[in-house]
Amino acid sequence: MKIDNLKGKFDKVFNNGDQASLFRAPGRVNLIGEHTDYNDGLVLPIAINLSTYALIATNEEEKVRLFSENLGEKKEFFLTDTGIKRNDWTDYIRGIVSGLQNRTDPVRGFDLYINSEVPVGSGLSSSAALEIATAVGVKKELQLEDLGDLELIKLCQSAENDFVGANTGIMDQYVSYFGKSGAALLIDTSRPSHDPFELDLSGHELLVIDTTVSHTHGGNEYNKRRKECESALKTINENNAQDNRFSSLSQISAADLKKFKSYLPGIQYKRTKHVVEENERVVQTAKLLQEGKIERAGELFYASHESLRDLYEVSSSELDFLVEFAEEEGIPGARMTGGGFGGATIHLVPKGRLEEYRTKAKSEFEREFDIVPKCFVVLPSDGAKFQPTPNNYQQS
Ligand code: ADP
Ligand code: MG
Repeated sequence: MKIDNLKGKFDKVFNNGDQASLFRAPGRVNLIGEHTDYNDGLVLPIAINLSTYALIATNEEEKVRLFSENLGEKKEFFLTDTGIKRNDWTDYIRGIVSGLQNRTDPVRGFDLYINSEVPVGSGLSSSAALEIATAVGVKKELQLEDLGDLELIKLCQSAENDFVGANTGIMDQYVSYFGKSGAALLIDTSRPSHDPFELDLSGHELLVIDTTVSHTHGGNEYNKRRKECESALKTINENNAQDNRFSSLSQISAADLKKFKSYLPGIQYKRTKHVVEENERVVQTAKLLQEGKIERAGELFYASHESLRDLYEVSSSELDFLVEFAEEEGIPGARMTGGGFGGATIHLVPKGRLEEYRTKAKSEFEREFDIVPKCFVVLPSDGAKFQPTPNNYQQS
């Protein structure tokens, strides 16, 4: 993205471009560990080389003024109105401002210009990129020095959970903030804490194929999955002695689950089995990747997809098509990434086969669904925390 003329554009919209500072937060690809984060489980994402840019300047009004270049929409709200939900993209910003006000931070008016390279609604987390870019910018421009890293991340998550109404876990915001260039982040969401390690894909590229079928329609289903997990945990705890209760599904081992099968209703059993096995796959994948065993890590990608399709039931015909294509083409691994019900897939493609594979995948997908998918080769990139200070890359 060309960021050199963003100031000029900001000036056209808000008339105070000189004051504006630039911030950036990346989207993410989750390598493995899907629907485990809100179950206090393990995830293995990378921040990617596609970002959301936020230009921010304080204003002299009691208002937040917003412009999204992607949507071509200008909006505004009074600082006294942050509690009012509008069911549009401004809710993400209202949620952040409202969270800061609840912390009793002195929030003054500001202007915010957004432009994003992250495809919106594709499972690459444009929502977290929007939140984190905004929050780091607001923190700096409003001089909220005591807003700590984890607090900032949780503020963004709660904007999404409590304001937008998507009950997502902490992974997206966490990796958009803490992502590391060249590294994958093994995150234990129960703490939360992370362990970055160098991601060496041994001669493979990580290709994202976005079905362009927006997953937002699946919003209710996403929340339903979360509820089903809560119900499963409740059933298990009701059937266990006081001293053998679990605080999340991620504490349950495969051996435990076998014992619980007799009384867990079918849906609850399937959802739990996915969570338990997916957590195991995350541990194994992280280990295999660190040992350079890409083929075996790739097998776990396929296994994860199968589980998301059959046990968790969050895949779609478009996602399945792309993963089946990958298997037929004999590449080491592929799976849906993100919450599902549309969105994107990731493919481990040998470098020498990239062009041929991408071209064929696109044309076969288009022939099947009459949709042209979007492809991106992604690289593990720095999160918002590791950006140079805004002045270092303004007008660069
Ligand atoms: P994902 O995070 O996978 O892209 P979500 O449904 O979680 O999908 O988030 C997409 C929503 O985030 C959009 O519908 C919009 O409300 C908001 N959003 C993300 N990026 C932008 C942007 N650049 N401008 C305005 N709104 C955005
Ligand atoms: Mg999102």
